[in-house]
Amino acid sequence: MFAIRQLSRTAFGFVAKQTEKAIVTQACRCTYVTHTRGCFSTLKDVEPDPSKTSNSYWVKKLTPEQYNVTREKGTEPPFTGKYVYHNEKGSYTCVCCEAPLFSSSTKFDSGTGWPSFSDAYYKEGQSNVSCRSDLSYGMVRTEALCKQCNAHLGHVFEDGPKPTGMRYCINSASLSFKKAT
Ligand SMILES: [Zn+2]
Repeated sequence: MFAIRQLSRTAFGFVAKQTEKAIVTQACRCTYVTHTRGCFSTLKDVEPDPSKTSNSYWVKKLTPEQYNVTREKGTEPPFTGKYVYHNEKGSYTCVCCEAPLFSSSTKFDSGTGWPSFSDAYYKEGQSNVSCRSDLSYGMVRTEALCKQCNAHLGHVFEDGPKPTGMRYCINSASLSFKKAT
């Protein structure tokens, strides 16, 4: 009897958890992480420019490290990026296309050696950060990209601070910073 009760309690808990997750992921259309808001949406005031998508354009525009991180999915060594301990108020934009990605208000010290944010920047409910599954190096991770130009930004983990519980682990080399005026 005890075992059955335990089993049904576990089964109920499982169903409840699955239902909760289904609602959240359905709301944001992202099947990789439990975002509470849409991560595949696009800010309408940042239009991608097709002429800027050629490889030679990025080679010319970016430093070798910025190119390696954003266009070749590289990772800067921890504790080396210029925004790891950066605490000014403002917005972090894509180093490639200047789309606003993160606000300083969601930046926190994760101790990992990379700039960390608990949420993407949202304007009118939409963000420029998209996510997709990344199975490289034998790991199951969620890659964060710039929705506008497809730049690799870093990875997203679900061990961040409340209320989102998210940790966007982002390379400094993929970011620019615009100080709040
Ligand atoms: Zn971009």
